[in-house]
Parts: sequence; structure tokens; C-alpha cells
Amino acid sequence: MSCLQAFSFPESVNNTGMHELSIAENLRNLVLETAGKEKLKKVTGINICFGQLVQIVPEIFKFAFEECVRDTIAMGARLDIEIKPVKLECRKCQAEFTISENLFVCVQCGSDNIVIKEGKELFVKSIEGE
Ligand SMILES: [Zn+2]
Repeated sequence: MSCLQAFSFPESVNNTGMHELSIAENLRNLVLETAGKEKLKKVTGINICFGQLVQIVPEIFKFAFEECVRDTIAMGARLDIEIKPVKLECRKCQAEFTISENLFVCVQCGSDNIVIKEGKELFVKSIEGE
């Protein structure tokens, strides 16, 4: 049994134009590549984390991923998905805060001059296997 440290996709996932299936394919490639490096014979569990702005439906994603890993060593692996809140920074007063709704206004000074710091990424937190 091995458990890996968190790592992220090479490119952050754009919240428009990236479909569950293409994200699932990216994840499969990453999982199989990592499993190969770690010399795993079987992948039993995958823990991932999405930023809230990556608009995926977990059920559809799980289904797409199961299809992607059919006949690979990751077939049947448990997929745990966590959704991370969106983290923003105000350009005006440098406040950092998280939002739960799509309200892109600074909680401290009310400015809408906001940058997204986190929320568009997909992280693979760990891969379990044997
Ligand atoms: Zn502010």
C-alpha cells in the first residue's frame, strides 16, 4: 500500500470548455503514469480535489472515469472527490477570502477588482494501490 503526496495537474483546468470526459482522461493518464513510476500492480483508490469553479458533476465525472480506466490497472478503483471553495484576492486592499456563492466582491472593502487565486484547479491528493 502506498500513498502519495498531493500534486496538481500541469495546467489548471479552465472552467469553460473542459468536459468531464476530457478531465477524466487527463486524470487516468496521470494516475497510470504515477502507478507505473511507483510500480503498482493495482490502483485501489484515488483521492482528488476540485476547485469549485471547475464545473463538474461528481456523479458524471465518476462515471466518465470508470469508463476511462476500463481494462487498466485502475479499473474498479474508488474515487473520492472533494470540492474546494474558491479563494479570491482583492487587488485594492489585498484581502484574501473564500466565497461560497458566485459573488466576486471583496468582503473587506467592497471592490470588484478581484483575482481568483484558487478554485480552477484539480488536484490529485493521493493514489492508493498495491
Ligand atoms: Zn478589498
